[in-house]
Amino acid sequence: EAAARAAAVNADTGAPTIFDKIIAKEIPASVVYEDQKVLAFRDINPQAPVHVLVIPKSRDGLTELGKAEQRHEDILGHLLYAAKIVAEKEGIVDGFRVVINSGPSACQSVYHLHLHVLGGRQLKWPAG
Ligand code: ADP
Repeated sequence: EAAARAAAVNADTGAPTIFDKIIAKEIPASVVYEDQKVLAFRDINPQAPVHVLVIPKSRDGLTELGKAEQRHEDILGHLLYAAKIVAEKEGIVDGFRVVINSGPSACQSVYHLHLHVLGGRQLKWPAG
């Protein structure tokens, strides 16, 4: 299927991604939240009224969740807590979803770990 083929083409190479340019402010992003370790900005192709990506400012080998190591535990926790702050700021804390696509079979396209924070409408389950 086309989506699966496209995802396979986008498999993890460890190369820099577009998110490096966003972190470096070389390309614009609509930043919702930022601290020393993470950056949260609006997804360019939103799948819900609120669709924010939360990323670590330092990728440090975290191209995808499936490659996480024990040393990443702190940043993984920090990212999840930042997702909750984003939900609060966006006024969706009563009902939101956090998604991590890891690897080609999950249609991950950008190989810099990111959490999708989605809300602002009734979300369906199960996800596709
Ligand atoms: P998928 O592309 O299948 O959703 P990912 O989980 O890797 O897989 O998500 C990457 C996300 O990054 C996409 O939702 C895409 O819209 C978003 N994105 C890509 N480029 C930008 C950008 N320049 N600014 C904001 N979001 C972006």
